[in-house]
Parts: sequence; C-alpha cells; structure tokens
Amino acid sequence: MIVDIHTHFLNFEQHCGNQLRQDMKRCNIEEKQWTYSEEDYLNGTKAADKVIVFGLKATKTGWDVKNEYVADFVSRHSEKYIYFASIDPYQPDFMLDLVYNHKQLKCQGVKLGAIYQGVHPCDKRYYEIYDYCEKNNLPIITHMAATFSSGVPLDYARPFHMDQVACDFPHLKLILAHLGHPWESETLAIIRRQENVYADLSALYYRPWQFYNAMRLAVEYGCCNKILFGSDFPATTTESSIAGIRNLNNLAIKANLPLIPTDLIEGIIGRNTLDLIYPTHKQLF
Ligand SMILES: [Zn+2]
Repeated sequence: MIVDIHTHFLNFEQHCGNQLRQDMKRCNIEEKQWTYSEEDYLNGTKAADKVIVFGLKATKTGWDVKNEYVADFVSRHSEKYIYFASIDPYQPDFMLDLVYNHKQLKCQGVKLGAIYQGVHPCDKRYYEIYDYCEKNNLPIITHMAATFSSGVPLDYARPFHMDQVACDFPHLKLILAHLGHPWESETLAIIRRQENVYADLSALYYRPWQFYNAMRLAVEYGCCNKILFGSDFPATTTESSIAGIRNLNNLAIKANLPLIPTDLIEGIIGRNTLDLIYPTHKQLF
C-alpha cells in the first residue's frame, strides 16, 4: 500500500497570480513545472494506491486554486483520490468556507500554509480552524518549511509554533509538511513527543545531503514511525520520490557514513497513513 499524502492539483494559468509568478522567476522555479494537465497529474501519481490532493488558497502570496476545481477532480476519481480543502484565514469568511467545504464538498481534511497565507500559525483565526477540525476529525496538513514565495515572515513557517498548537489541540491530527526544512530538528522533536503530530518527507530527496542528515536524526530520535510518504507533485512524481528515497543511502555509502536502515525506509514508503490519520473512519476508504 503506497499512500501519497501530499499532491497539488491546479491550473497554473487560472489559479496563480503575478506575485507568485515573479517569486518563481526570481528563485529559478520554472513555470512549466507547475503547468500540467489532468492527465499529467494522473500519470505523476500512478505509482500510489491512494493519494491526498489539494489546491492552495493563499491570496496574500498569489495562490488562488479553487477548491471546487480539486473537489470536482476527486468526484471523478474518488476510488483513489482524497480531497483536502485549502482554507485561507486571510479571507474574512474563512470559517464559512471551511464549513462549506466540509458539508458540501465533502473534504476529508484541510491544507494550510501560514508562510503563504500571511497569518501566524498561533493566530486566533487558525485556532478557529484547528478547533473545528479537531471536533470533526479532519486531519490538517500544513506547510512548515522554506518557500520561494515572498512577503510573509519566515518565522511563520517554523515548525516550533506547531508544538503549542499540539498542546492546545491534543486530538487534532496534524501533518507538518517537508519535515519542516530547514528546521528538521524542530519537527522531529515535535513528532516524537506529540502523539497526533506527524511529518511528511515530500520534496526532499533531491537535496540529498540535507535529507540524509534529517533522516539520520530521525533514526537517532527513534521517530521514523511518525514520518509519512508524500511527493509534493508537481515538484516531483510519486514514482521518482519512491526511487529517490530508496537511493537515500547512496551518498552515505560513498562517504562511509552510517546508513539509514532499509527497513525504516521501506516502512515509510509502505506505511498505511490512512489508518493513522483516520483511526475511527476506516470505512471511508
Ligand atoms: Zn506542497
């Protein structure tokens, strides 16, 4: 069972604003990587058995992926794809939007990103979202990592803030994306101690030195069981992510450094994340 818990579905031309385009250009991110068809998306995630998919609503930094666009896709591919709604607390009606996505569009979780949305992760607006999600068993995946988008303090992306959130919402299922790079050590300290907080390792394998060190730290802390598989399509595909993670030890072998045990690597790739984040809702899938 391969569960890819981190993929983006969007139409770049329609959903991405000028500021975002300028930020991508400045950071040498090619627009064509983020310009893809539904067929490309299906091909890019075909190596997974189940896929969590979302857009991103963050008007502060130029992201405006319509939730309906993602929900419509999932309604046509519901045997495999699981819809997460992106809720933007920068918008005044964000709670109405959350209820609409939950009740009408039937989202199975929520995607957030403080560094994109321009709101501190401990702001009372986010706390309203956390409270609703905890009460309604909706897991949250939140971008806690560096980004090319500008205009919001990098502090908002620090995983450290989510430790307080986990203390205040102990039953909320939280996934910190990208192992919180470049603050992987903060993320690992949190997922180790907080029962319902996990991290995904999406979009990391192509920075092999950083990824290797983060995973060695996870081995030493004994928290690889809290790390989940994701690709961050279109940053990379499910298939190339699996291959990249399996190549994790190449660098260590050449440098005669300690290895990441293969059983821990395979444990992450084959983990049934849905059982972890929906412990009482298995019948949904
Ligand atoms: Zn992402």
